[in-house]
Amino acid sequence: MVSTALNLKADRTYSPREASDRELELVHPREYLKSLLDPVLISRVMGIPELATLSASHLHDSLLQPLRVATGGTILGARLALEHGWAFNFSGGFHHAHKEKAEGFCFFADTAIAVRALWEQRPELNVIIVDVDAHGMNGIWEILGHDPRISLFDIYNREIYPVSGSTTLPYPEPPPGSAAKSKYEFSRFLFPVEGRISDQDYLGLLWRNLPLAIASVPEPRLMICHLGQDPLLGDKLGYMSLSEQAILRRDAYLFDQAIVNNIPVLALLAGGYSPNSAGLIAKSLLNIVHRSIDGPLNDGPLTNWPVTA
Ligand SMILES: [Zn+2]
Repeated sequence: MVSTALNLKADRTYSPREASDRELELVHPREYLKSLLDPVLISRVMGIPELATLSASHLHDSLLQPLRVATGGTILGARLALEHGWAFNFSGGFHHAHKEKAEGFCFFADTAIAVRALWEQRPELNVIIVDVDAHGMNGIWEILGHDPRISLFDIYNREIYPVSGSTTLPYPEPPPGSAAKSKYEFSRFLFPVEGRISDQDYLGLLWRNLPLAIASVPEPRLMICHLGQDPLLGDKLGYMSLSEQAILRRDAYLFDQAIVNNIPVLALLAGGYSPNSAGLIAKSLLNIVHRSIDGPLNDGPLTNWPVTA
């Protein structure tokens, strides 16, 4: 039963501390971290020109410090997932943050920081990062993409940032002669899709390929999921057309796959830019939990498809 696997207890909540300088520096150079106190830079990354008129201290307290706490939540969540089998961080998934460049509302590469923090204790741990946000995880790839312990699974809208209409993948090729080359070849589960992809095609892509990606990752393993809600129809930045039903099924399927394969799983929120985003992620997380209590692990492949949107 999943309920046993999830070991669900209603009072099992934790409050993270903010990520320390030392933890942030597992990924980001100190000079980069100092540069983030520039209001002009913050306003550009957030796409809000008015922020440039605010003081650095105000922006630190109201934006950067909460993001450090969110990053601390991802670090803590990764440890809790290994300890208990699963964890949610109700924030995080800042997948556009590069090592030395903030982009797309993302300043701290929380997933990469959490993985490197884990590796300090468990350097043998293999991690699969599953990103179903509408936007490709360009920052993660830049930081971790060539590490042989990392597998990346990414379904993203190829018509928007960071690809923006290019037919090429947004990720750099590995360095020539890289020792990670062979690993790289099979850890690359990247699916650029059309924004108007149907529910059925999107879920079919996931159904067919995620088990293959998981099977390619040697033990010991951890799965980190970026549960972006911005593929939802009508999202202001995702420009996709998935139904709410499809996203609920998608997220539940990710957890099912982690559990049936006995992989600890951490879920992070990533993006969502619709008035319905907050409600949908809440509904999705509740669905994962309640399915875990009430239902079978997996409601199967597309035998009950299509569902009504
Ligand atoms: Zn996104």
